[in-house]
Amino acid sequence: MNFQEILNSQKKFFRTQKTKDIKFRKDNLEKLKKLLSENEKLLLDGIFKDFGKSKFDTILTEISFVKKDIDYYIKNLNALSKPKNIWTNIVNLPGSSKIYPEPLGNTFIIGAWNYPYQLSLSPMVAAMAAGNTCILKPSEISFHSSNAMAKIINENFPSEYLFVAEGGVPETTELLKLRFDKIFFTGSTAVGKIVYEAAAKNLTPVTLELGGKSPAIVSKKANLDIAAKRIVWGKFLNAGQTCVATDYILVENSVKDELINNIKNYLEKFQYNEGSEQYTQIINDKNFERLTKLIDAKKVIYGGKTDASKRFIEPTLMDNVTWEDAVMKEEIFGPILPILTFTKFEDALEIIADHEKPLAAYLFTDNESEKELFTQRISFGGGCINETVMHLGNDNLPFGGVGNSGMGHYHGKFGFDAFSHQKSVLSKSTWGEPDLKYPPYTKEKLKWIKKLM
Ligand code: NAD
Repeated sequence: MNFQEILNSQKKFFRTQKTKDIKFRKDNLEKLKKLLSENEKLLLDGIFKDFGKSKFDTILTEISFVKKDIDYYIKNLNALSKPKNIWTNIVNLPGSSKIYPEPLGNTFIIGAWNYPYQLSLSPMVAAMAAGNTCILKPSEISFHSSNAMAKIINENFPSEYLFVAEGGVPETTELLKLRFDKIFFTGSTAVGKIVYEAAAKNLTPVTLELGGKSPAIVSKKANLDIAAKRIVWGKFLNAGQTCVATDYILVENSVKDELINNIKNYLEKFQYNEGSEQYTQIINDKNFERLTKLIDAKKVIYGGKTDASKRFIEPTLMDNVTWEDAVMKEEIFGPILPILTFTKFEDALEIIADHEKPLAAYLFTDNESEKELFTQRISFGGGCINETVMHLGNDNLPFGGVGNSGMGHYHGKFGFDAFSHQKSVLSKSTWGEPDLKYPPYTKEKLKWIKKLM
């Protein structure tokens, strides 16, 4: 596969201006949506082969998610892409000012395996909406899902516009040497650094959607039943293989036992059994082994059973965990939930601030001053109060990390902006020509400049 040739053809196609046409963008978004419906079985089969993800979960968190994005852009494209009139300051009068959102050009998107469709296609949809061409490299780890996307896109769109490049590290390394106008990466912090370094060689702007250890704080002033239910759902969805899943719980000492009982109750109710509709497999043997090593049997208070032949790990709760435990040394990214405690609310915030800025943080409380402290004192990509994960379901909220958990945002308007350049243009009238800025410089002119500026 000659990636340079494909990129050259995309560069040539971009220069025809066709991708900038609003009708072209909408028609192609519409076409992609139709293809997702027509090929639903192919998509469902692919992801099921990769890690047993059920139809319900795949439709909820992948296919419908991408279709919702497509609908958003079709509905809002005129407004998003329209040049915006901006106020013109006195020194530039008579004249007018405008911001023209323009597509960056030829984009490269690298996807992760845990939500293989959503994390590859949602950025691609944003790139299309903003009027770009795109080469998409889904994760090779979820290779049946990658095959399904390659088949749907490469058989139905010209490669000079959209192209799915399949492969792993060698292919990505090759692609990263090329000169794109934007690289959008979803994956680990370690690989994010490799991508950032490669992009720097061409001064290519990047969005890095990375990971980290996302905490859920549970205060004694929380509704403990709701806290347990919402933490359990967000954590064991996709068997914990979600970038914004609760990585660990920080619970106020005095309510720990009650919270744990409630969590156990919901774990029973939600029936996360091997092979069930509500539970997925661990993606591969490597991750299965990594995760089983994080389980310290002495600290397990629920679950802990594993089956290597089925890459199944039971939802597992660990109590009395400290930062010295293996499970706290890395992002878990699996169905293991460690529980740590605090005695004073501010201490919980200090614990979070002592570590890398997380991609998400959650707080359960009914106390207004705790909510205020949580939103004001600690830095995290995004999060929820009295909920987990669902912030990324609101298109009006930017989704992205901060510090080690990433840079840049997408979803809704923010996705459009991630793939656009805001070109600013001042248009001056040729009548009315104040003499002020022109030489020769005089004291009188300087006096006026001081006043006007
Ligand atoms: P990963 O970093 O291993 O792989 C991501 C992509 O990078 C894949 O397409 C892979 O082929 C490519 N890649 C891997 N090694 C490479 C290398 N040396 N050079 C160039 N490319 C390389 O991540 P993953 O295992 O697919 O996903 C798990 C991580 O992603 C977790 O840390 C998780 O938190 C994070 N994640 C973040 C988000 C988000 O939206 N912020 C979403 C999902 C996952």
